[in-house]
Amino acid sequence: MLKAVLFDLDGTLLKLNVDSFLPRYVESISEKVKHKIPSKQFKKALFAGTEKMVENVEPNKTNKDVFMETFFSLTKADEKEILPVFDEFYSKEFSKLQKDIKAVEGAKEVVEFCKNENLKVVLATNPVFPKEATYERVRWADLNIDDFDLVTTYENMTATKPNLNYYQEILNKIDVKAEETLMVGNDCQEDLVVAKLGIKTYLVDDGLVIDRSGGNYLTDYQGPLKDLPKVIKKINIYY
Ligand SMILES: [Mg+2]
Repeated sequence: MLKAVLFDLDGTLLKLNVDSFLPRYVESISEKVKHKIPSKQFKKALFAGTEKMVENVEPNKTNKDVFMETFFSLTKADEKEILPVFDEFYSKEFSKLQKDIKAVEGAKEVVEFCKNENLKVVLATNPVFPKEATYERVRWADLNIDDFDLVTTYENMTATKPNLNYYQEILNKIDVKAEETLMVGNDCQEDLVVAKLGIKTYLVDDGLVIDRSGGNYLTDYQGPLKDLPKVIKKINIYY
């Protein structure tokens, strides 16, 4: 039987287009700190820190550790001055970035279905964001943090997508085997890569499919998010 479902967030449960959202987000946070760090320098350090997180393979360092290390070594800014500004940004400004971003049709029902089936439910969103920014986007999708057995953020993970260490870390944390798990996502590389571990895949194609391969990808299942319950029932019949 299937024991766990991992959900990507952006483009899967939430109609968020990363390509148009990220510039808005970066502008907004750099505006907030520009009295301490000039915007150009800030953006450079933000991108470098993010890149280092993506490269992170040190199991004893969280993505946050890696980000902060890179960010402060590049900006030479004072942590005691900057961290409260970041905190204020995430608690007061980040929510304003929602604009017209809404849940993908069926998001709430599908997560509810998984819980009722006694499946472990994980929000496997790329852990390059602080908890506050992730929790806020969960609210935009009309979901509750308590709906999930695990929500991956930069504080609690030591790798990022598409590194398989990230997915292995999730399986370890929820104590479920790869073959008992289904990954639901919209990214043909960063999400579907889990097949290499033996995790089954469901490509959500009613939001925004991201594919860098020109159609050269494989998925076990594919369809709109709201059809996921049918597929889970089918998987459990054939087990
Ligand atoms: Mg996505």
